Amino acid sequence: MGRSEELFTRAVQHIPGGVNSPVRAFAAVGSTPRFIRKADKQFIWDVEGNRYIDYIGSWGPMILGHNFPAIREAVISAAGSGLSFGAATEKEVEMAELICELVPSVEMVRMVNSGTEAVMSALRAARGYTGRPKIVKFDGCYHGHCDAMLVKAGSGVMTAGVPSSAGVPAGTAEDTLTAAYNDLGSVRALFADNPGQIAAVIVEPVAANMGLVPPAPGFLQGLREITKKEGALLIFDEVITGFRLGLDGAQGFYGVQPDLTTFGKIIGAGMPVGAYGGRRDVMEQIAPVGPVYQAGTLSGNPVAMAAGLAQLRILKGHPEVYARAAARATELFDGLREIIGERGAPCTVNSVGSLGCLFFTPGPVVDAASARRADTDAYGLYFRHMLQNGCYFAPAQFEAIFLSNAHQSEDIERTLEVARAYFTR
Ligand code: PMP
Repeated sequence: MGRSEELFTRAVQHIPGGVNSPVRAFAAVGSTPRFIRKADKQFIWDVEGNRYIDYIGSWGPMILGHNFPAIREAVISAAGSGLSFGAATEKEVEMAELICELVPSVEMVRMVNSGTEAVMSALRAARGYTGRPKIVKFDGCYHGHCDAMLVKAGSGVMTAGVPSSAGVPAGTAEDTLTAAYNDLGSVRALFADNPGQIAAVIVEPVAANMGLVPPAPGFLQGLREITKKEGALLIFDEVITGFRLGLDGAQGFYGVQPDLTTFGKIIGAGMPVGAYGGRRDVMEQIAPVGPVYQAGTLSGNPVAMAAGLAQLRILKGHPEVYARAAARATELFDGLREIIGERGAPCTVNSVGSLGCLFFTPGPVVDAASARRADTDAYGLYFRHMLQNGCYFAPAQFEAIFLSNAHQSEDIERTLEVARAYFTR
């Protein structure tokens, strides 16, 4: 038995499923998790010493690659001054100023500790501001694990094939209305059926938790128009796309301004961080200024702020990072398109910037219904082949592929060679 298997046998005794987040389990791909010991640049190593080209990047934060020297040094330096004060710090001010400078729709911002918390808090702010109870989300979008968002969710929920999590009260689920991604008609119908009841529409501006599904032309603009007309807020969940599709995220990339935005991942550089922000009049509803309560003992933690600030400052100073990561992504995704085209494989590749997905369905994949047509057993076979040959992709079909500034053309060539071998077997 290998060391990873040994650890997994121990893990399942005391951790549900042996993992602290379901997306880390390898059950959906018919395997057991590799336990990871270290990561550097574009590589991760498991406890057996095997090296993999990493296409997960901690599910998004590692846009500069792992163990980036300036970020590591910022963390070590901040840790030398104490791990947490539970009091205001200069770094929090700098972080808020930087986010508001880089993302024009964000006039005020509050730091939290995860993407889940960011979304949960933004929803409360939207309900507090509008005085309305209901939220519209899209089938296949994942917004973290707060009760209201565990209805027709993407990511691990989609992999598990459950419509809604157990433990979510019926009353909560009733206030969550679901529309189809890329289908403005389904959104209009919900507004027509629930007049004056909908506080907000929340959307992943690029859906990255049902594989990868780009917004159809006009979809985000349409959401902006509908919400404005109906007096509801538009929330962009940019936990994945924020500071990834560019310094101003998907909202800059597509030129659509939401009322509120949620962030995570890249703004923490790998530390547990999230944030939500947006229009001043909405954010002034938050305690201690307004009546919407939201708090956090470790929010704005000095070590986490040091890591996130270092990463955002590097991105601001070196926006060529985006072009470089996207160029490697184009090499990978165009290469995969070529291979599946040559072999006539029933697959399709979606991509935007440094994000993408290889779906095991002929496609097109434009929403959750078309994503669910994917052959997840075939994905499992492909995943195991890639892993055995040193390429570490998400252990589930309905997750994105993440490229970073550290990936090199030779990594992509190697990966395509391994993929070609799979499709020509
Ligand atoms: N929103 C989106 C779009 C996400 O992708 C995720 C996590 N992958 C979350 C929210 C939740 O973030 P966290 O896991 O940090 O709670």
